[in-house]
Amino acid sequence: MQTSAPLYWSTLPAVTAMNYRHAYHAGNFADVLKHTVLLALIEAMQSKSTPFGVIETHAGSGCYALDSREAGKTGEFKDGIKRLLYPDLQTDAAVGGNLPPLLRRWLDGIVAVPGNEEGLKVYPGSPLQIANAIRAQDSAQLCELQPEEAARLHDLFHRDPRIHTHHRDGYEALKALLPPKEKRGLVLIDPPYESQEAEYKLIEKALKSSLQRWPTGVYAVWYPIKLRSQVQPFLRWLQRSGAKRVLRAELMLHPDDSPLRLNGSGMVILNAPWKLDEALRESLPAMARLLSKDRPVEWKLDWLLEEGAEPPAPSPLPPSRLAALGLPTARVRPGSGKPGLAGRSPSPGKPGPDKPGSPKAGRAGASPSKAPRTPRIRPDRAR
Ligand code: SAH
Repeated sequence: MQTSAPLYWSTLPAVTAMNYRHAYHAGNFADVLKHTVLLALIEAMQSKSTPFGVIETHAGSGCYALDSREAGKTGEFKDGIKRLLYPDLQTDAAVGGNLPPLLRRWLDGIVAVPGNEEGLKVYPGSPLQIANAIRAQDSAQLCELQPEEAARLHDLFHRDPRIHTHHRDGYEALKALLPPKEKRGLVLIDPPYESQEAEYKLIEKALKSSLQRWPTGVYAVWYPIKLRSQVQPFLRWLQRSGAKRVLRAELMLHPDDSPLRLNGSGMVILNAPWKLDEALRESLPAMARLLSKDRPVEWKLDWLLEEGAEPPAPSPLPPSRLAALGLPTARVRPGSGKPGLAGRSPSPGKPGPDKPGSPKAGRAGASPSKAPRTPRIRPDRAR
């Protein structure tokens, strides 16, 4: 089995399934966006005391060692999480104090993971971040298809009664797991996109049947951005998916015109909870500022579909046909109400006083309503 090539970066048109290993990418800039949005979602769910369930279709192994052969090979975390914790985990009170609260709480969670006491050594995957954020009354169902990853996931959580791991296809599992017993909650869909177009079709199929089964569920989907044209059909489909409202958050490190690299990534949130956009509004520009290196990082936060708005009419022809005919391709329109927000970091960040501090000061003691953190962590490392 091939494990060396980081497949997000692959130029192959289609790759046989199940080669992707998140250990090569853990903590990269895409994870920073995805996991901050995830925390914002969980916090929004916790505005009510009633329990909720989190269902993750593509969980990975749950935790990653940043000194592993895989992480070292790509070094992606250095342009991701490491740029937000400078220097390493040290506090720079002047700037750290100004971090938007959501981003600060998210960084607190990363720093607090066992293994990071002396420096950034471990990056928690979404399963561990979910486990650390949910309360005693909440639950999580985590699906992972790759056998070794699924075994590690099971090892990590088998003593936590709130967390249930499933070695199975996450799309298929949704049929059995939705709606969750709590009758409220969220689904995270974070696939490897080993074959980009085919993956979007799987997501659309899964979302369609899930929304029929559980129309009030919150669904968050992460997507890579290489060429913008590869993403647009999916974003347009979302507007007609049956969701009541769809929020989109994106971070772009490079222009979206090269198929050769991961230029940016986004999260779309179907049936986004109330005020989620407000929670993200401050954090996205801050993330963009902190992640910028050689050039400004661009960010975007807008409603692809606002509640009560008519979904746009479907485009008569696919964009590729329109382009071939020399006709303008339809654009994803923001929702009918407030205009979306977008921006770019003012200037590439440089180490020094402009960098954020570690949120260490704020991390002592968990909130009393939280269940104890999952005790045993075995990060995913090279074997
Ligand atoms: N969500 C994780 C990263 C997941 S990477 C995080 O943020 O930390 C994507 C994972 O999906 C890989 O571990 C891969 O093995 C797994 N996978 C691929 N196809 C799958 C499928 N159909 N069902 C469940 N898991 C799948």
